Formats: sequence, structure tokens, C-alpha cells
Amino acid sequence: MTRLFRRRRDLSQLELGFGAAPPRDADELLERLRQLGLTRIKRCRLTRNRNVMVSFGAGELRVHEGYLDASENVLRAIVTFVEGRTRAERRAAQRVIVAHPIRTRPPARRDRTHEEDLEIAEKLGDWHGRYNNRHFHGRLKRVPIRISRRMKSRLGHYTASTPVGESAEIAISRSHLRKHGWEETLHTLLHEMVHQWQDETGHTIDHGASFRAKAREVGIAPYARRVLATRPGRAEGSQTLGRRAARDG
Ligand SMILES: [Zn+2]
Repeated sequence: MTRLFRRRRDLSQLELGFGAAPPRDADELLERLRQLGLTRIKRCRLTRNRNVMVSFGAGELRVHEGYLDASENVLRAIVTFVEGRTRAERRAAQRVIVAHPIRTRPPARRDRTHEEDLEIAEKLGDWHGRYNNRHFHGRLKRVPIRISRRMKSRLGHYTASTPVGESAEIAISRSHLRKHGWEETLHTLLHEMVHQWQDETGHTIDHGASFRAKAREVGIAPYARRVLATRPGRAEGSQTLGRRAARDG
């Protein structure tokens, strides 16, 4: 397996435009590369791994999807990377390949709180303020609380603000509230607030040592997952739900 990792982003390159319509998928890309001299590859797959730009082995070529809009010059370099006879040739090709800027897809737009859930969101917002005073010296920022009807396996989620200006937020699963009740939902809110605290105090957002220590301090379970019983009186019986680890927040 030969892989080409991305190293730098700031290399400039000569763009050679030939006016051909850009390939739209892996097959079209393979077709295009064959026109440019690729012979050793039987299959082509598009990837999204941000670190690996191009890799090949066993007749398969994997290319980051960001290369679909690459210039002819860059596509030729991919061919040379695979087929090149000399090391120097392949090296030069690598430089051209990694210089191609990858445009990552914009993140999916966050959904909004359903109109009927606004009241719950507001109530949780009040609790956010209360918990903030009680456990964080009132130092946490006010963040919007969103009720998600999509979240099924996760109870809650803290999202840090993004460099493009989207604010931080806490999302709480509506089905969690319905299945497990208000007390458990408040527990989840506090869990997410510990992630918020991690974020705002420069800790990594995870379930590591800083999370565990703070979770104990504020009186919640210091774990990524919680196993919860469905609240009594509901038809589903004793259903359990795990909280997902790490990024879920
Ligand atoms: Zn968490």
C-alpha cells in the first residue's frame, strides 16, 4: 500500500485548465485518470479521510473526494504518483498533489428546536443559569439550548463554537426526555455543561480526567455512558440507553 499524506497547504502550483467537465464520482474520476495515462488501477474509491490524499495498492486507488474538482495538472500528478518510473518523478508529483486545496464540505446545518419544544428549551435554559451559578460560579457563557427530535441514541450533545462563527450550543434529545423524564434530562444538561466548562477553560472536550473530576464535583455520574431505565408507567418496559462516548459531548 502506498499512501500519500498531506503535509503542507501553502504550496503554490501552476493550474492548467483544459476545460473538461470535472468528474462527479469515482468511476468518472478513474475514467479521466485513464485518459491521462493511468493503467495499473482497476478500481477507484473516494475517501473523506482528511489526512490521506491518495493511496493505492492491489489494483485499487483511493482518492480524497476533494480531488474531484482538481485541475488537469493535479490529476496528471496522481497518474504520475501511481505510474511514475523514477523516484524524482513521483516526488515532484507528490508535491503537486498535496498542494491541491481540499475544500471540505460545509457542516450540515443544525436543525432548529421544534415550535412545540420551545417551552422545554426555555426551561432548560433557566436550569442552565441555575446550574451555572451553583456549580460554575456563574462563569459559563449563556449558550442556546436546542431540543433535538433527531437524536435517538444520544442523550445530549455539546457543540463548541466554530471558527466560521456558529455559536456553541447544547442539544438535548427529546426522546430522552420523554423516555427518562425530567430529572435524568437535567442530569444530561449538567453533563453537557461539564463539556462546556472543559471547552471554555481550555481543556479537551472528552471524558478524561478533567471531565471525571468536574463531574464528581458537580454531582453527576463521571462517565460517558449512562444506562437508564425507562421511566415507570411507559409502555416500552425497561429499556436501557447508553450514552455515547467522546465526541457526542
Ligand atoms: Zn459527554
